[in-house]
Amino acid sequence: MKYIEMQSYKDSNSVINPEKLLELVMKHAVKIDGEVYRLYRRFRADKWYGGIATGDVVGCNLRCGMCWAWKISYSLSGGVWMSPVDVAVKLEEIAKSRGFRQVRISGGEPLIAPRHLLKVADHLTNYTFVVETNGLLITRDLAREFANRPQVIVRVSIKGATPEEFSKITQSPPYYFHRQIEAIKILVESGLKPCVDVYPAAMLGFSTDETIKSLEKTLAGVDPRLSDCVDVEYVILYPHVVKLLRARGLTPTKAVTPSGIPAFMI
Ligand code: SF4
Repeated sequence: MKYIEMQSYKDSNSVINPEKLLELVMKHAVKIDGEVYRLYRRFRADKWYGGIATGDVVGCNLRCGMCWAWKISYSLSGGVWMSPVDVAVKLEEIAKSRGFRQVRISGGEPLIAPRHLLKVADHLTNYTFVVETNGLLITRDLAREFANRPQVIVRVSIKGATPEEFSKITQSPPYYFHRQIEAIKILVESGLKPCVDVYPAAMLGFSTDETIKSLEKTLAGVDPRLSDCVDVEYVILYPHVVKLLRARGLTPTKAVTPSGIPAFMI
């Protein structure tokens, strides 16, 4: 891919523009040929949620500076084109072989080309389908689609506790922090039960006690139950993540080692 195109998701002031990133992912990592195809880098059994079959999809509309999957999410190429049924077959194969009841699409943003994800979910009605998303692409129509699928649980991963932290982590405008909160509101209003069908996750590795309280207040403003079911995320100091943090000039306030032990960056 030409350098100029790789840089075209930045605005003139070097701010990363999620809409432009979305266009790039749609152009390079999504293909429509009867079905909606996406590029997948790998499939695996993962330990989270007590065991979950996972497909890692290429491409994201954000550029988080602590992304553990940045080699996949930042990418716009590589991997294999897969239709929804191909993905469902792979996920079910892993789930069956490991006795898992949960499946998910991870690695990048799964709601880019949402028809693809909905079709994968439709092939896997016997499993809990965890939609892990940054929330930027959630619309009322999509929220209704989720509400009509009882197997779907939506986990909206908020980047930071405030608009300012969001911007520091993603290099995108603070406005998009509010889009993440709005996504949760839309999902709740569309009938997904707070803390059951939809819940917030939050990257609090760059937060302070004060900003965490502010996030709790913001979430309680959407629904009082939400501040009690935040899935807190800290930066995981994998070597490739430390490399990214350094390149982005980010120092977490809280981080953990890959084995889950609290850690400080040197
Ligand atoms: S939204 Fe998730 S996948 Fe995308 S860059 Fe951020 S952490 Fe990575």
